[in-house]
Amino acid sequence: MNTSNFLIANAEKCTIKDQQFIIAGPCSFSSYEELYEIALELKKLGVEYLRAGCFKPRTSPYSFQGLADEGIEYLIKIKQLTGLKIVTELMDWEQVQKYKDDIDVIQIGSRNMYNYDLLSKLGTVSNTILLKRGFSATIEEWLSAAEYIAKNGNQNIILCERGIRGFDTETRNVLDLQAVAVVKKLCALPVIVDPSHASGRADIIEPMSLAAMISGADGLEIEAHTNPKISPSDANQTITIDELNSLLTKLKSYNFI
Ligand code: PEP
Ligand code: MN
Repeated sequence: MNTSNFLIANAEKCTIKDQQFIIAGPCSFSSYEELYEIALELKKLGVEYLRAGCFKPRTSPYSFQGLADEGIEYLIKIKQLTGLKIVTELMDWEQVQKYKDDIDVIQIGSRNMYNYDLLSKLGTVSNTILLKRGFSATIEEWLSAAEYIAKNGNQNIILCERGIRGFDTETRNVLDLQAVAVVKKLCALPVIVDPSHASGRADIIEPMSLAAMISGADGLEIEAHTNPKISPSDANQTITIDELNSLLTKLKSYNFI
């Protein structure tokens, strides 16, 4: 792929270049107390960005769909109380207009990566956009999606590799670390890795996180919970706060963060 005519190749107006993003928190949550407890623990570990899904694009319409607007209100309250920056997925323009002033980083999920109308509109807001790779998107499709945002005026985009569909059922997806190395050559935007959705399993988050950083990632988005068993979604891939603590210690010992 040739990105020489793309704004994201140099991303001159991107103000988050060379920053690191360690983002952690539950996939979703079912009460204020649950999220507040997690947030306090993350704060103790020095994590700067709290992720928590409120509008959940679940495969089954019968699975828990997130606390929606009520959840966003809790997230905003916890941001005010803790000073943590908040990252959450928004699925349409109406939600973006409603919450853009309170949310620090707007996550666009894998399923919405091809929503060109939404991407174009995200070019008009000043929030940082975390653009996840579609689970069957080529690198070219992923970077083109980012260019839709950039072309419309917003170059503060974090690209997130979250695994692509493979054939093996031992893991949820295949973590494409080659994409991280390649994308770092093709554009100037920060690139992070989500080992949680890539692997679907809590027991390999640590090695995949280390591998991501050595591949050139500018950070990680990790699902973590004080009690993963009660997480209303993605419990199997969610690590404990203790596991996150030991991962962060290891990342520091390798000078990755
Ligand atoms: C998530 O981060 O919880 C999520 C749904 O991610 P993705 O869009 O990558 O599946
Ligand atoms: Mn999840």
